[in-house]
Amino acid sequence: MGNATAKITHQTRDDRFAHLKDTITDYIKCKDRILTGLEDEERIKVQKKKIMDRLGATEDQWNDYKWQMANRFTDIRDFADLIGISPESLADIERVGKTYRYAISPYYLSLIDPDDLNCPVRRQAVPSPDELNPAGDLDPMDEAGWTPVNSVTRRYPDRLIIKVTNVCGMYCRFCQRRRLIGETDSNVSWYQIKEAIEYVRENEEIRDVLITGGDAFMLSDSMIERLLSSLREIDHVEIIRFGTRTPVTLPQRITENLVNILKKYHPVYVNTHFNSPREITKEAKEACERLANAGIPLGNQMVLLNGVNNDPHVVRKLNQNLLKIRVKPYYIFHPKTVKGTSHFWVRIEEGLEIMESLRGRTSGMAVPTYIVNGPGGLGKTPILPNYLMYLGAEKAVFRNWEGKTFEIDNK
Ligand SMILES: *Cc1c(COP(=O)(O)O)cnc(C)c1O
Repeated sequence: MGNATAKITHQTRDDRFAHLKDTITDYIKCKDRILTGLEDEERIKVQKKKIMDRLGATEDQWNDYKWQMANRFTDIRDFADLIGISPESLADIERVGKTYRYAISPYYLSLIDPDDLNCPVRRQAVPSPDELNPAGDLDPMDEAGWTPVNSVTRRYPDRLIIKVTNVCGMYCRFCQRRRLIGETDSNVSWYQIKEAIEYVRENEEIRDVLITGGDAFMLSDSMIERLLSSLREIDHVEIIRFGTRTPVTLPQRITENLVNILKKYHPVYVNTHFNSPREITKEAKEACERLANAGIPLGNQMVLLNGVNNDPHVVRKLNQNLLKIRVKPYYIFHPKTVKGTSHFWVRIEEGLEIMESLRGRTSGMAVPTYIVNGPGGLGKTPILPNYLMYLGAEKAVFRNWEGKTFEIDNK
């Protein structure tokens, strides 16, 4: 090693750095064409204005999450023209909507590019006739079979999830819990939440409680406070996590009042769910910053989705821009075989190619763990491109991020 270093001349050192830059020129060339919501702000403003005019809304109403919730779009005929949907496709969309409900906050609707029928935001929010494809299963993870008490799913030894509501700011077209979204919005009763809290209290190995839904931040501030204060009375609960897509679909929900409640019960973590750089807008950024400023570490759980983010450059742009708004990419989930979502499915090779394209080429902080969920509840299972090429009694052989091989002793 020492000798090899000594041999490096100025010339070879310059070559080396030029070569490093070469390994990312493909990304540098295309990154400005993959727009974040911040970079596309002017177009989004035009859409916002059209939607506000349609609803007769004031700026104050727009910035109020309760107004956003009360004005979610649930009838395609009320917004088709705003996002360039042809009158001929209306009947198809209505037919899908009868099987799988939809609702889109005015804010999230404003992120859809009306001139792009393949817009990744549109694909996540607007029903597609492809949802009627019968492939898949309504509960492939068998959540129902891993439920010790109502609204709890437990498949790991020291942590569990509590599903507190079936409500969301926007119903994702690829939702893994479509079966629970049903036809109406309903929060779980305090009686049921209490039952879940009792379960945690009685099982002292549970040190990590994850509150999810639906969307955990659809609960009222007072309900969130009640839940947090009850959990904090339990000594063995070390950390509390919220799963919420509101920073993405309803950033107005992250109010000063909410963060002031959350920060009283630290350590509190929030995992959110950005899937596309287009979702990183000024509002989303401010929502994440309010949470981060309250001392809440933020993670992102992306779902790998055909036509949304199954592209290494898109994921690199997304993850780098998440770090800029203080969100750490945590997981990339391989899509589950949920019925009605088959048009989003991708092959494992695509996920591995994305992982391969991140490692080494960008900050390790921007490299999440790629997860396949074992069907029937076998749990989160990580997968990686293979870097360990040989593991023997004497040595181990690897390849590095660029494909160069090396070995180390393993005696
Ligand atoms: C995803 C999940 C968790 C949390 O998993 P981590 O890997 O700790 O983030 C816990 N319980 C259930 C049932 C889950 O599905």
